Amino acid sequence: MVVHDFSKVFLNGDAFTDIIGLEHTKKQLKSALLVNRHVLIMGPPGVGKTTLAKNIARLLPDLSCHDCGFNCLPDKPVCPQCMTGKKQQRKTVKGSDRFVRIQGSPDLTVEDVLGDIDPIKALTFGPTSFEAFSPGKIFRANNGVVFFDEINRAPEKLQNALLQVLEEGKATLGAYTVDIPTNFIFVATANPSKSTTTEELADVLLDRFDIIHMRYPDTAGDEITIVTAKGKKIPVEFPAELLNRAIGFVRTLRTHKDLLRAPSVRCSIGLYERAQANAYLAQRKHVTLEDITDAFISVLSHRIQLKPAVSYTKSTEEFVKEEIKAFDARQRGGCL
Ligand SMILES: [Zn+2]
Repeated sequence: MVVHDFSKVFLNGDAFTDIIGLEHTKKQLKSALLVNRHVLIMGPPGVGKTTLAKNIARLLPDLSCHDCGFNCLPDKPVCPQCMTGKKQQRKTVKGSDRFVRIQGSPDLTVEDVLGDIDPIKALTFGPTSFEAFSPGKIFRANNGVVFFDEINRAPEKLQNALLQVLEEGKATLGAYTVDIPTNFIFVATANPSKSTTTEELADVLLDRFDIIHMRYPDTAGDEITIVTAKGKKIPVEFPAELLNRAIGFVRTLRTHKDLLRAPSVRCSIGLYERAQANAYLAQRKHVTLEDITDAFISVLSHRIQLKPAVSYTKSTEEFVKEEIKAFDARQRGGCL
């Protein structure tokens, strides 16, 4: 079923302008979306998965549809209100407004996502009547994008219900089976980290997706571009050489053998902001190395996780301090 046509937009320049670099990810994503595959973006936290998914929605053309909150097309109503055939107001909805985010968590229910049968209305109108159905969040993404963040944190029951929706366009809610329209792009994410409470994604559900890998920015230059574009600026100067060093240090930690969890791009943004704040509070016009070092412990320590064998001998704070020293020594060595 072709629900969205990206054939023109993907040939005209860079479609995913909200993401700096990561050409391989963009190419894979374009290829999958062009043929309307469901995608699962795999990558560590804080690499821009949400930004990328929102960028997909922004590429969708404006839609003239019913003003019912479910983007119903006159000839393809999906919500109970429009299915009664009542005359509806029309409105134009932008692609970016047809983006629905669902946060995967262990307490998320099938009813939250797919919908629920109202037992009183079911008695009045009959159990299979659409009047008795109150649509869940997924319906708001009709003709748009469902962004299911951290799908691997959703309970197994919900994962099974989603599988049924993606396979058959139906869901079983209690004793009832209801049609769920699948006229949306389904973008899910999963975090490969083993450190959070995650359910394993069932193989059968995984089989419904194409996996797109998303990594940290390709180069320090790309990361600095992201950090300076997204981070807050206050009126102090951040010397380029110091920013290079700070980001360079964060990037070396990502390949460190002693770390289970590496610092994200959000961490780099935090350092950029906090170093400026420290300089400002010290009433200086520009950031110094000390401002950055002072920010490290508060911004970085809790965002990394040491391997158990290492955490037995030192705290993350001690680890960070040692690594800063070693990094600075290497930098000085490189300058000689
Ligand atoms: Zn509707």
